[in-house]
Amino acid sequence: MDENAPLKERVSADMSAEDFRRFGYQLIDWIADYLEKIDERPVLPSIRPGELRAQLPQMAPERGEPMERIIADIDRSIAPALTHWNHPAFFAYFATSASAPGIFGELLSAAFNVNAMLWRTAPAAVELEEVALDWLREMIGLPPEFEGIIYDTASISTLHALAAARESLNLRIREEGMAGRADLPPLRVYASEQAHSSVEKAVIALGLGQRAFRPIRTDEQFRLDVSALRRAIEDDVAAGALPCAVVATLGTTSTTSLDPVAEIADVCHERSIWLHVDAAYAGVAAMLPEKRELFRGWERADSIVTNPHKWLFTPLDLSAFYCRRMETLRRAFSLVPEYLRTDERVRNPMDYGIQLGRRFRALKLWMIMRYFGRAGLQARLREHCRLARDFAAWIEREAEWELVAPVQFSVVCFRARPDRALSGEELDALNERILNHVNSTGQAFLSHTRLNGRFTLRLAIGNMRTGEEHVARVRELLSQALKENVKDLPRISP
Ligand SMILES: *Cc1c(COP(=O)(O)O)cnc(C)c1O
Repeated sequence: MDENAPLKERVSADMSAEDFRRFGYQLIDWIADYLEKIDERPVLPSIRPGELRAQLPQMAPERGEPMERIIADIDRSIAPALTHWNHPAFFAYFATSASAPGIFGELLSAAFNVNAMLWRTAPAAVELEEVALDWLREMIGLPPEFEGIIYDTASISTLHALAAARESLNLRIREEGMAGRADLPPLRVYASEQAHSSVEKAVIALGLGQRAFRPIRTDEQFRLDVSALRRAIEDDVAAGALPCAVVATLGTTSTTSLDPVAEIADVCHERSIWLHVDAAYAGVAAMLPEKRELFRGWERADSIVTNPHKWLFTPLDLSAFYCRRMETLRRAFSLVPEYLRTDERVRNPMDYGIQLGRRFRALKLWMIMRYFGRAGLQARLREHCRLARDFAAWIEREAEWELVAPVQFSVVCFRARPDRALSGEELDALNERILNHVNSTGQAFLSHTRLNGRFTLRLAIGNMRTGEEHVARVRELLSQALKENVKDLPRISP
């Protein structure tokens, strides 16, 4: 390129419409190929920390580069350095899928680039958010008293829930803060010891102090023990503390266990404590009539979070937050500078949280619900539960494996238990070696947790591309890994 040649276009110009079309078609083709043949890639990249960075220039280019070169680099360097969450053999954490209508929704929302801070700045985004969340609320069987708002993640939804809970105490914390106040009792937040770390983080972020978080014992099925909750609340109140909120989890992160939310709601109602339900993963399964019973009582919560980006085929990120006391949430956060004042009688999303600017997230969720329909979404969730049950049945049949927790949805917690003379620690080490062995093949990606102090393997099904063949392959890989790693271990002497 001749450096002194005058620019043909205005210096502020974007890519031409013609090029946008050309590269747009090319990229859509690239994505279609990527998704169609993702099975041929290893789930986990064989890459060491820093390896990608070392391949890329240390500084941004001085002059623009042709799109062809950028796309070629994505193909050659970036994609191979990814852990492929859309891979059908991704069984780690909670498996998720970015469905095609969701991908289109993301593309359009970037093109519109609206900032949905106010109704005025993005009427369609604000109203579509209400429509999409009403549809989802109805599908999962919550009453219309629950109003919804979209945040990025469940962690942020729970932070807002606990901020609203604190505001509901009417302690003038919004105005006066919490520091140096003799009139303020220490606040307490309760959740089971299986609750997600985001609850404790929210307690820290809100300045309640980490000690305000009270983890409550769980039973043998990893469900919050309600009598232990009652005792903890009584002890705290006797000691002069003030219960601020209880977080019940429906679908815990390790085992997808379900806290007895109806009984927890009784405790909260007796004592007027805010009840927040964390159903980040499992909440969407309430759209299955055969699972609805597991959620009985959650409709009595003050607030509920569920994440379409976890198990409703929505590209990251989109967390649905429902609250029956939106005015309290608004009281906690609304602060309107002059330049953002408008006179419409509307709901302005910026009044319900920390952030001002907001992406148009509702579009992808609305497109997904329309494209698959209720029945289509239900069928996919059901299939994932069926695959998980089948896998669990295999574990139960095999003498050398055992289930470690009940299978409620699409996650199976299990471990190897061969008939060898092994201490608890040796058994842990064996299971860890099996996990690493399977993951190193690139043919599947599983993760682990610790239950009752013991190393536990986890298989999570949530990808739309996962079929019986992928689960069958995992069974083979696990059997091989067990055989390899157990062969030199001493047998139990007869
Ligand atoms: C995954 C998960 C979260 C955190 O979700 P983010 O959206 O990543 O913040 C919170 N709670 C539960 C029960 C989860 O499974």
